[in-house]
Amino acid sequence: MSTVVERSVIVIGLGSIGSMALWRLAERGVDVLGIEQYGRIHTEGAYAGESRLFRVAAKEGELFTPALIRARHLWQELSAGYGRDVLLPVGALSLAPGDHPDLKPTLRAIEQFDLPHEVFDADGIRARYPQFHVDDDDIGILDLSGGAVRPEMAVAAATEQAAANGADFRYHTTVTAIEPDDTGVRVVTTDGEYHARKVVVTAGPWTTRVLPEIADLVSIRTFALTWAMPRHVERFAPELMPGFMRDLDEVHAFGVPTLDGYSIKICPHIDFDPVHEWADRPTGLTREQLVWAGEQAQRMMPDLIPDVSRWSLHSDSWSDTKMPILDTTADGSVIVASAMSGNGFKFAPIWGETLADLATEGPAEFALAPFRIAAHRAAAAEVAPA
Ligand SMILES: Cc1cc2nc3c(=O)[nH]c(=O)nc-3n(C[C@H](O)[C@H](O)[C@H](O)COP(=O)(O)OP(=O)(O)OC[C@H]3O[C@@H](n4cnc5c(N)ncnc54)[C@H](O)[C@@H]3O)c2cc1C
Repeated sequence: MSTVVERSVIVIGLGSIGSMALWRLAERGVDVLGIEQYGRIHTEGAYAGESRLFRVAAKEGELFTPALIRARHLWQELSAGYGRDVLLPVGALSLAPGDHPDLKPTLRAIEQFDLPHEVFDADGIRARYPQFHVDDDDIGILDLSGGAVRPEMAVAAATEQAAANGADFRYHTTVTAIEPDDTGVRVVTTDGEYHARKVVVTAGPWTTRVLPEIADLVSIRTFALTWAMPRHVERFAPELMPGFMRDLDEVHAFGVPTLDGYSIKICPHIDFDPVHEWADRPTGLTREQLVWAGEQAQRMMPDLIPDVSRWSLHSDSWSDTKMPILDTTADGSVIVASAMSGNGFKFAPIWGETLADLATEGPAEFALAPFRIAAHRAAAAEVAPA
């Protein structure tokens, strides 16, 4: 008979949020084990792809800005511990026609929380950021606390610091069942069984497999990351331009200055239908989509060669309301973070800390009511046809 390994807390999925939960739990001295189906870093997770935008002035609403202020401190703490800048403090620019609906909530967050920022009219942007094509009715809002996060480095940093604080790991091990019992939860994997008082599920786009009880609340959406090559790449260095979100003639794109020294990330949005199972996600781009992305990128930044120089597809877990799920499930011993809805990386350390709060039954300041499973169920019931 095989022995069951006993731990206080088990974190299932060591990607964006799970690696941070492990870090925050280990730092509190909790006896914690992390289980990950791939390696310490991998290319399949919602986090893969070189960079993620970080903003403090949340266009998603005031609800999120206090969490992002705390997240920024945690990103800095993580960077200090790792000895490298996981967060590049280059600022985050929202550039859009003055009447674009995202600009108002961004400015509201800035005013409400007195965030450092700059606002530019069209000529101001042309003078400061000549990389962009600018129309006369464009406005730029620069969130000076924003920037870009290096996701692979962040996951590596968090797991390294978790290990330094005593966390244990199982890589290349897939969790196949989670079974609550009288004393906690039994975790069945492809490499033995484990047991813990609490289990934290941070399985990202695999949530629908790992936690069937909330699978109806979670879908999987896929996004394309695309890079293009400037003719004068030196003008696109992080010292000279911020991370950005650009809306131009109904096309939304986001991007980051050059990090590889020859191209910049600029991702005009390509729409894919949501799916409910990882294996069903889209995995390729058509020639037409690539041509379109290259042309849009060059329209937004005229110095770019109008072709995509590299691309990759990544999937994220999603909810209908775009609110994350951060809650303890009905039996009380399984805690979940999911449905990050294309927005989760910037929050990763604060959601990790919130999961640590929930797992240790402390006050969880940022486990807000709209993130509860019941709130998601109520929202789903409202939109369901009678
Ligand atoms: C293309 C793209 C661009 C984005 N851009 C931004 C951005 O600019 N800014 C921003 O803030 N957010 C952005 N996001 C969103 C953000 O990246 C995600 O919300 C976040 O990475 C989700 O983290 P996660 O921990 O839920 O999932 P993941 O990072 O995927 O982690 C889940 C982990 O669980 C593991 N796992 C799953 N099932 C099992 C199992 N059965 N057993 C063991 N391990 C398991 C997986 O292997 C994985 O490592 C973007 C997302 C995408 C896809």
